[in-house]
Amino acid sequence: MDRYRAGPGTRMDLSQWDPNDKSAFPVKKKEGRKQLLELNQRLEALQELLYAEHKHKVLIVLQGMDTAGKDGTIRHVFEGVNPQGVRVAGFKKPTPQELDHDYLWRVHKQTPGRGEIVIFNRSHYEDVLVVRVHSLAPQEVWSRRYEHINAFERLLADEGTTILKFFLHINLDEQRERLQARLDEPAKHWKFNPADLEERKLWPEYTAAYEDALSKTSTEWAPWTVVPANRKWYRNLVVGTVIVETLEALNMRHPEPDFDPADIRIE
Ligand code: AMP
Ligand code: MG
Repeated sequence: MDRYRAGPGTRMDLSQWDPNDKSAFPVKKKEGRKQLLELNQRLEALQELLYAEHKHKVLIVLQGMDTAGKDGTIRHVFEGVNPQGVRVAGFKKPTPQELDHDYLWRVHKQTPGRGEIVIFNRSHYEDVLVVRVHSLAPQEVWSRRYEHINAFERLLADEGTTILKFFLHINLDEQRERLQARLDEPAKHWKFNPADLEERKLWPEYTAAYEDALSKTSTEWAPWTVVPANRKWYRNLVVGTVIVETLEALNMRHPEPDFDPADIRIE
């Protein structure tokens, strides 16, 4: 999956990243979906091991333009995983109370504890994305945040958190189709927000903000993966594979019992 990793210190130019790429899994949709089911099973076993070992903490950050597929990724990649073992934290417009604190206050509270996987559906990155694009804070304020974010993620990593960040990369055409689908299908109307059309007009501004964020915050301790996300099944395979391979590399073990099972008789 190295091909999708935004290397630390490299200047990101998203026009050079193909949202239709399928070079890592050159298969058809049907086969891709089958491979995802296998990943789901591996992830299920790894999650249980993570919980049992009670040592590592795992933080998964999902970002992307509207309709990029953050919700769908969570639904499909974690299908079959014990719902007790995974927590999703979504970040919406901050409440007045949250705005009375620094922007990382609400985020830090949601980070994973030992044995836990937490998925961020949006994240502290909104504070250098939507906040920048809509000038919700002056430039001198948001421009300092990249450094805070790197330091914050470094703190989490130093204290035992494995951090994986995914940018779900779609293009403007794909977004049009997905927005249109939300209008065409009554069951999807609830997902349509007329304000998304205003956001869509700001695509170039969001792209620039994402390029800056990806360039400045892809670190060894918290790397970004740029996921080709025009095809949903492919997106799921890439995200699932990165997570599974990262968890496997932790070499987790079931804890040794502090009793000898052979000595125990159940009457
Ligand atoms: P959704 O993910 O579609 O439910 O929408 C959540 C909305 O909250 C998006 O429009 C985000 O841009 C917005 N949001 C999330 N975090 C922030 C933030 N820190 N400041 C302002 N808006 C935010
Ligand atoms: Mg939305």
